[in-house]
Amino acid sequence: MASATPTPNDLYVIALGGNAFMKKGEGVEAQWHNVEKAARQLVDLIEQGYRIVVTHGNGPQVGLIVNWVHHYYGRPVERLTLDIAGAMTQGWLGYMLQQAIGNELERRGMPRRVVTLVSQVLVDRNDPAFQNPTKYVGPYYSREEAERIAKETGWVFKPDPRGGYRRVVPSPKPLRVVEIEAVKRLIEQGFIVITVGGGGIPVVSSDGRLRGVEAVIDKDLASSLLAQSLRARALIILTDVDYVYLNYGKPNQQPLKLLKASEARRLLEEGHFPPGSMGPKVQAAIEFVEAMGEGYFAAIGSLDNALAVARGEKGTRIVPG
Ligand code: ADP
Ligand code: MG
Repeated sequence: MASATPTPNDLYVIALGGNAFMKKGEGVEAQWHNVEKAARQLVDLIEQGYRIVVTHGNGPQVGLIVNWVHHYYGRPVERLTLDIAGAMTQGWLGYMLQQAIGNELERRGMPRRVVTLVSQVLVDRNDPAFQNPTKYVGPYYSREEAERIAKETGWVFKPDPRGGYRRVVPSPKPLRVVEIEAVKRLIEQGFIVITVGGGGIPVVSSDGRLRGVEAVIDKDLASSLLAQSLRARALIILTDVDYVYLNYGKPNQQPLKLLKASEARRLLEEGHFPPGSMGPKVQAAIEFVEAMGEGYFAAIGSLDNALAVARGEKGTRIVPG
């Protein structure tokens, strides 16, 4: 069993949620403040000797890009494909993190070795998700508008639980980070790498040729894949809640501190962790520890306590077994 204290060789994959850029209800004007705060948390880890790789979500930003294009043209633009929108957010958010982490490293007298890598993630054309799109993207429409746009573009729309109709796209399972060798090399050279942003740009392969697809990959599952591919010691998922809870949001809610993968799976199956939010995090954690085995762990907790979550002092730790 590896000790909770990291050794200099231990690599931690840190997955940042949407709140690292914009908290619920905030707009783009808040993003530098949030990113700089996140950067201080990450540099706390680096200062303590953790080697980190950083991934991040992009849901609100993809939504904004689609909306901006829509406003500019006065209609949805099917040529702004989701792979390109995803690549735009990797640049946008990667740049912000890279600058903010770099500035914080420099301020604390450490070398500014931090870089963003645009990354593609392979998915299977035959993944059942392509037959059953589930992820909402872009603006809300009336039923009539949604039907008209569906006819023009071939997009699929579904009623959103929050009202109105929205486009839904498939969320296939991530299979391979295409640029994984480059990530490894950069880590070996001492770089903090920001990669697999937004779950990676989804691509399919035919006869060795890659091409982007209209889909989005879950960032928690893609971060788990990255952590497995790098044989990281830990997958740390940082979000806007301090623990994974039982009976979340109810008067009897209860924080979970330590979970074996088998217990986590049972609770997931019992419906404690919804598909759009906590579900994929717990799934990602289970997949990581089951693939890696004894001595490896995943943790889910608040971005405001990054170091404490990595140390196991706060947050929910998921271990094999
Ligand atoms: P991120 O952008 O970090 O991926 P999400 O909104 O997807 O954030 O997931 C985090 C959210 O999950 C929390 O804000 C919380 O409202 C929700 N959540 C749902 N079920 C639970 C649970 N059982 N325990 C803790 N949080 C939960
Ligand atoms: Mg999420």
